[in-house]
Amino acid sequence: MTSDAPAGGATLFEDIGLLYTADPEREEIAGAALIVEDGVVAWIGPSSGQGAPAADRRVGVAGRAVLPGFVDSHAHLVFAGDRTAEFAARMEGLPYSAGGIRTTVAATREAADAALAANAGALVAEMLAQGTTTVEIKSGYGLTVEDERRSLEIAGRFTAETTYLGAHVVPPGVSADEYVSMVTGPMLEACAPYARWVDVFCERGAFDGDQSREILAAGIGAGLGARIHAGQLGEGPGVRIACELGAASADHCTHLTDADVAALADSGVVATLLPGAEFSTRSPYPDARRLLDAGVSVALATDCNPGSSFTSSMPFCVALAVREMRMSPKEAVRAATAGGALALRRTDVGVLRVGARADLVILSAPSYVHLAYRPGVPLVDQVWKDGVRVV
Ligand SMILES: [Zn+2]
Repeated sequence: MTSDAPAGGATLFEDIGLLYTADPEREEIAGAALIVEDGVVAWIGPSSGQGAPAADRRVGVAGRAVLPGFVDSHAHLVFAGDRTAEFAARMEGLPYSAGGIRTTVAATREAADAALAANAGALVAEMLAQGTTTVEIKSGYGLTVEDERRSLEIAGRFTAETTYLGAHVVPPGVSADEYVSMVTGPMLEACAPYARWVDVFCERGAFDGDQSREILAAGIGAGLGARIHAGQLGEGPGVRIACELGAASADHCTHLTDADVAALADSGVVATLLPGAEFSTRSPYPDARRLLDAGVSVALATDCNPGSSFTSSMPFCVALAVREMRMSPKEAVRAATAGGALALRRTDVGVLRVGARADLVILSAPSYVHLAYRPGVPLVDQVWKDGVRVV
């Protein structure tokens, strides 16, 4: 077996036990083979490779499962510092509030670019080893014009899916009105060239509905796509704002009114669920069944951040979604692949179909169901990105 594929030529993955494609046309195929060429999927067929175009090399999958690389559409990886003590205190009974973000802001402002990049790079590598081949990375721990700008510049070294989250929390020493003016003015101007998305933490203790609408509208005006943190700690206006403004995704969605659920279903805004946050704050999980039964598109993501969800593991989130949120294994894996891609408005990742990027995971298990059936077990055996083996 090759450690990485040479440039050019076709690679045949043969004897796949169960191929999960996330393509609604044929979502799973028992006994499959797949050919990768020039970094994309070139052919999918029976495990014998019968009828396949000629391949230059073969990778024997030996009856194991293959699925698309995970798409983690919500992560906060540009930060410094540690909040172990806060986590431990919370597990002893202290409540979570949005204010803990300020601890990380202070450490991040102190840190050199190289330290921030090294930390983010280590987390991206950790994610890749667990099967995540596409990750979104937010700013939001700088909260000054220059610290947000450099956070996004660093994020852009690791992903094209960079999100301007200057509106994470109002930093100390600034009034909320002054800060919203900065976020929609000079900070946006400095950050927009480095960002694809704009995001706001719409929550009590962070930004209210009017502020959130103003911040997202300004970002949209600067050419960014919108996404929002909504309904993490309580019901609020965030989901409605996301639907009004045509955001790609409303994230958290733990506390929703019936009107919120209906608006998500009607608008096509993806509900991105982040069960690592509920796990790490010992809070009730979002009601995924209510969303799925209403026809809402659901994504799963890690929310990887040092305060409220310090996991980088999509397999862990899949297991939580199945056990704690009543998603079926297939629904959870779909949400962690195609769902995440939809939340980033990407059609080239999170799916294995001809023409899609050859980002795929080989499990040391016969089926993707094992991701939930065997929680906490390192089942990701190989990871291929753009047709090259990277793990
Ligand atoms: Zn978040």
